[in-house]
Order: sequence, then structure tokens, then C-alpha cells
Amino acid sequence: MYRTHTCGELRIDDVNQDVTLSGWIQTIRNLGGMTFITLRDRYGLTQLVFDENTSDKLKTEITKLGREFVIKVIGKVIERSSKNPKMSTGDIEIIAHDLLVLNKSEIPPFTIEDETDGGDELRMKYRYLDLRRNPVRKSLELRHKMGQEIRKFLDKKDFMEIETPYLIKSTPEGARDFIVPSRMNPGEFYALPQSPQTFKQLLMVAGFDKYFQIVKCFRDEDLRADRQPEFTQIDCEMSFVDQEDILNTFESLAKYLFKEIKDISINEEFPRITYDDAMKLYGSDKPDIRFEMKFTEITEQAQGKDFKVFDSVEYIAGICAKGCAEYSRKKLDALTAFVQKPQVGAKGLVYVKYNADGSFKSSVDKFFSQDDLKVWANAMNAEPGDLLLVLAGNIDKTRSALNDLRLEMGDRLGLRSKDKFAPCWVLDFPLLEWNEDEKRFFAKHHPFTSPKTEDLNLFDTDPGKIRANAYDFVINGVEIGGGSIRIFDAELQHKMFAALGISKEEAEEKFGFLLDAFKFGAPPHGGIAFGFDRWCSVFGGSESIRDYIAFPKNNSGRDVMIDSPSVVETKQLEELMLKLKEQ
Ligand code: ASP
Repeated sequence: MYRTHTCGELRIDDVNQDVTLSGWIQTIRNLGGMTFITLRDRYGLTQLVFDENTSDKLKTEITKLGREFVIKVIGKVIERSSKNPKMSTGDIEIIAHDLLVLNKSEIPPFTIEDETDGGDELRMKYRYLDLRRNPVRKSLELRHKMGQEIRKFLDKKDFMEIETPYLIKSTPEGARDFIVPSRMNPGEFYALPQSPQTFKQLLMVAGFDKYFQIVKCFRDEDLRADRQPEFTQIDCEMSFVDQEDILNTFESLAKYLFKEIKDISINEEFPRITYDDAMKLYGSDKPDIRFEMKFTEITEQAQGKDFKVFDSVEYIAGICAKGCAEYSRKKLDALTAFVQKPQVGAKGLVYVKYNADGSFKSSVDKFFSQDDLKVWANAMNAEPGDLLLVLAGNIDKTRSALNDLRLEMGDRLGLRSKDKFAPCWVLDFPLLEWNEDEKRFFAKHHPFTSPKTEDLNLFDTDPGKIRANAYDFVINGVEIGGGSIRIFDAELQHKMFAALGISKEEAEEKFGFLLDAFKFGAPPHGGIAFGFDRWCSVFGGSESIRDYIAFPKNNSGRDVMIDSPSVVETKQLEELMLKLKEQ
């Protein structure tokens, strides 16, 4: 028998028991005839004590031990004289009398403790060692618990978990596909699903009514901290529903998870913000509403005062940073440098200090009188002691930059605590998005998203203005999920394809199977998909989804542990009828 208990199990009540433990050696300390070892397994740490006077055999054996050796120990539980309140087993230790080395270990490339000296690349190369570390294991435990609770909740609500294929053909989520050559069909390729979108719609046509799947999706996109080429969605679809049904069902899922995972009860309804308002007030379709600091547009108030920079622009807006009128020159310069970073992209920053005595000091005093600035301050609901930060330019770019500035100020003022959660729905997304480079519309969500009935007439006059029955779920400024009520009528689907510049032939070729299915009694349906990795990372308080994926890829899409992607043998290429181009 390898063990009677785990390394996280023994307590003061177990004193005097004879026990057997197995695990990995985390630390070894030798203190004059006594060797102290912390033994680790998934469940925790237990302190072992070896007295070299116990036997000569034991004395020689312990000198051979090293970090990460796998050992089995038999001994007695005793009360510790100096207890460690930080360890769950900290009241006891094991006085060991028998030791068996089950396996040796090379010296690990980094310390396997909560705080490690290992850099990112090194930890990824030896991910199985990194996974031995507490914080990493805890992240995966959270992920496991989330998965279990999601299944429990959805099962109770009659959702059926159904798997859909991975070897499919191009899906319509708008990213680049990963493609897989087919040996049996030379010259032809599968695409890996960017999501199971079309399949879940077919399951509705098939009458399954409520579907879900916790499923891998694949998108060949440039990577960031919150993106991976393969990631996991909680993918859901329902029949005979309208938008309200979907929002209610999944708001209860979210509330259930908040309660079960974070022990946070939310009774009130999640705020609902229209896309237009989100852009107007936060400059983002995923607003972080943990804090106010909403945008105020002052284009009208700020133009016509001979300040050329302002007079020549489309849009001027600002935010009010409460209590920041005392900001030093240095801090204001740092903010200016922040907005001028290429990723933020503003040309400059105008500030107005609303001094405690009611006067104003601004970077544009030459052009604007105290009364002018008072008008801005009133528009922004500012009070003495506040600081106004104003950006101007093209509307889209300026909103985006002001959003970055708002979040930066939120960070600086400590308004974005990881322990505070502010979920919301963003509704009424535009159906289409104009692409200036390609001079055509793209689907903002995907081509199966239904337009609002009252906007249908805009197809012929102003397609850009059509609003969709589409919604996103956002927590703390992170897009956690999104979905839509679908088109379920072949006629309207064709109209949508036409608006996207997709010809009848192309639509037939790509999505003929779905259009065919719509001819056989498709029910009204809609759904949503949540980014499972992201939801875990937001609940876990981390910016990076990698912490919640057992074997993630790095920024260049590489798995440095298994060294993939890699070249394949010529024979494999020949079987696939593929030839590599000379580089
Ligand atoms: N398939 C969509 C996505 O991956 C989600 C949905 O519309 O249900 O974003």
C-alpha cells in the first residue's frame, strides 16, 4: 500500500496514528541529527521528521534524498511543538521510521513552490513541473469546479450535452481557419471548427430543443494574453426562444456560478446597456462598469473658441477623475505619454484642473476662459477637486483612446479591484460592420444572426444601421460570452448573405447544408457561447487565460513542451499529396 492518507489530510485529532504517506519532496532541511522534509501531493503538504538515530539504514537513506524525489514514508503522527498556521496540516508532523524511494528526480529547473524562480518559457517547457505548483493547480481546480457546476445547472434545465465534429468545413466566425488535409480525399481539406455554430443550429432543426457542449474551438488569430489558438467554449442553443428567454436563462447560470464558485449572491438583475450607449459612455462594447467615470461629449461646447485642434475635429469628449485636481506636472505628463502610445493612438491630452477654490487651471487656458471651462465642468458633473481629461479627433479612434485612458485612471485610482465583480449585458449590436479596406459589409457577429424586425426595411436603404438580436455578456470589461437569435428562414438568410456580398452560389457552396435544413421546418432558435477559459480567469482574478489551461501555447502559437508545430516526414506529405514550397 502506498498511502493511508494524503499529504493534506492529517490533523491534530490524528495524533498517535501510524500512517503511510507518499508524495514528492518539496524541501529538505537538516538540523543537527534531525532532517525535516515537506512532502507534497495534490492535496497539500505534510512535514516529515527523520531522526538519524532511528537506524543506520535510515541515516544513510536520507542523505541520498533530493528535491522532487518520490518517496513513501511510514511513521507516527505527533503534535508539532512549533505549529504552522499557514499549513492545513501545520499542527502535526510525522516522525518517520521507514523510508522507501519510489523514484529519483533530477534537480528541477526551477523551484516548485508558490513563488518560483522560473521564467515563463522555462515553466512552459516543463509545464508538468509547473503544474505541481499550488497556484497553478488551484487554477485548474477552479476550472474543474466551474465545468462541473455548469453541467449540473444546464442538465437540471434540460439541456443535452451533444458532441459535434472537429473535422468540418469552414465556419463563419470571421477568423482564419486551421485546415487539415484529407489523405482519403487528396487535394481536399477539413477545417477545424471556430465554433460549433452551424451544428448547434442543425441540432435545433433536429428538434433537440436545448443543447450545450463544453467544447474546443480553433481560430488561427494573432495571440494575446486572453487568446489561444485552441480555446474552450460553453456553447449553448435553445429552440422556441426570444432574446429575453436567452438572457434570463443564462443570467441565472451566471448567478448560479457566482454563488457556487465565488460565494457571491447577486439578487438584482444584471444591468443591460445598448451597444450605442456602451460606445457613447465607455467607448467600448465591453464596458468595465466597476466604476463610473463615464464619457461626456463636449464637441458643441468646446468648438468655436479659435482652438484649431478642437475646431477641426469630429468629436471631443472627456472623463472626470474624482479628486485628482492636485495631479502634479509629472503625473499629467505620464498620462499624456500614455495616450500617445501607438496602441492608444491619441495625438495629445487636454487637462482641466477644477481647483478646490472653484477656479480652473488647464492646458488650454490660452483659448478657454474660466467660464468656458465651467461649462465643461458642469457638463461632466465635476466638483472642485476634480480633474477633467479631454481627448479630441475622429469619433471611433477618440472613443477607443478615451476608453484606454478611463481604464488606466481606473487602475491608478484603485477602482478595478479583482475582488469586485460587475457583470452586464450589452444589447442591440449592429448587424453589419463596414470594412473600409474591402469596401464591403461583414457580419458583426456571424451571418446567421437575425436583424431586429423593426429594422428589416433598412436592408435596402441603410444596412449599416440595422440592429441585430445579438447580445454579449461582459464581466469587469471582459467579454465573457456572446450570441444571438438566429435567422431561421431561408429567404431572410439569403438576404443577409446578399448584404454581405456573398453570392447565391457561394452561399450554396459554403452553407448549402444549413439552407437546405431550413427548408424542412426549422424552429425559431437562438443561443450563446461563453469563453470558458476567460470566465475561469476572471473568477480566478488573472489577466491571462493561460493560467487556466493545463497545456497552453505561447504567443507564437507554439507548445514549447512538446515542441509543436514541427516538420513532418516527407512520406506523410506524400500520402497527403502535399508539396512544400521552397522558402
Ligand atoms: N458561435 C458564436 C461564437 O462563437 C456564439 C453564438 O452565436 O452562439 O461567438
